[in-house]
Amino acid sequence: MKHAVVTGGAGFIGSHLCEALLQKNYKITCVDNFITGSPKNIAHLKNDPNFTLLEHNVTKHIEIKADIDVIFHFASPASPIDYQKIPIQTLKVGALGTHNALGLAKAKKAKIILASTSEVYGDPLVHPQKEEYWGNVNPIGPRGCYDEAKRFLEAITMAYHREHGLDTRIVRIFNTYGPRQRFHDGRAVPAFITQALNNEDITVFGQGEQTRSFCYINDLVRGILKLSETQHHLPINLGNPQEMTIHQLATTIIELTHSQSKITYHPIPIDDPKTRRPDITKAKELLNWEPQIDLKTGLLKTIQYFKENL
Ligand code: NAD
Ligand code: UDP
Repeated sequence: MKHAVVTGGAGFIGSHLCEALLQKNYKITCVDNFITGSPKNIAHLKNDPNFTLLEHNVTKHIEIKADIDVIFHFASPASPIDYQKIPIQTLKVGALGTHNALGLAKAKKAKIILASTSEVYGDPLVHPQKEEYWGNVNPIGPRGCYDEAKRFLEAITMAYHREHGLDTRIVRIFNTYGPRQRFHDGRAVPAFITQALNNEDITVFGQGEQTRSFCYINDLVRGILKLSETQHHLPINLGNPQEMTIHQLATTIIELTHSQSKITYHPIPIDDPKTRRPDITKAKELLNWEPQIDLKTGLLKTIQYFKENL
């Protein structure tokens, strides 16, 4: 049996990844300190004999005795509200945590797949975003703690690949949504669904003209697993290229939840990117991957989860 380590395995994406790996017959060690994740996300996996939880902060040395075949390094706050509340932890997990995860991979001669983000493109001046674009990031703004941590993650990963020949993969994840996002993590999809189900005002920032492209979690996880099985060491975009304004997202969620909510407009956060859409040509060519779940289908599944868990 192959052994996979998933850092951030009790988070939104990490818990879905653990589930998918168990289904593929992996033994899993999930490493998490629950800073933004929750034991609830992995409660259904706890009794599986192939699942082990190691409660640990990965900014500290990671000690795992067993052999390891593959590491998925996904530990990091991801929502703007989370990472702006704990900017130093965010920088530490992106820098020290990534260094420890790479060191573990080197010691165990394991393959490692690391979670980067579309935020490395910042407020992009090139649209849609291709992997070759270097981005437009404000290093000292409120989002800098996250964006620069992930840019460092990419830089140190390429250095380990080039200097030590480590078998690395970097996935630039674009906005992803689905069951197990926290109701109050502040990201647009969980915020709007929670507000709509409670018939509260939908809090659109700015005029809602900024765009995003939302990918359903199952599509993303399928892409990550394909990437892990392909020899491609440069970063690769994974996301759904179906782009929409945040205003359109709000009205779609109101419609799908049959909500009485009204949209209200609030100041736009500093450095909020104006546009974002992945160019997924590389993922299509190299992984034969593209998203299969359209926005309405994915939102309906997510709304169902929120209804059952609110
Ligand atoms: P999440 O907050 O739900 O999950 C992150 C997990 O990492 C949590 O369980 C948290 O407790 C854990 N963690 C954080 N710091 C840690 C530390 N020092 N030690 C151990 N565990 C720690 O967020 P998510 O949306 O599941 O994001 C997972 C990864 O994917 C992150 O690396 C994030 O940057 C990346 N990503 C996510 C998105 C998205 O749209 N969801 C987009 C781009 C990138
Ligand atoms: N947003 C919003 N209202 C909210 C939460 C988010 O209008 O209550 C906007 C936010 O300003 C951004 C977009 O929705 O333009 C996506 O935000 P999210 O936090 O989901 O992710 P981001 O892509 O900014 O990291």
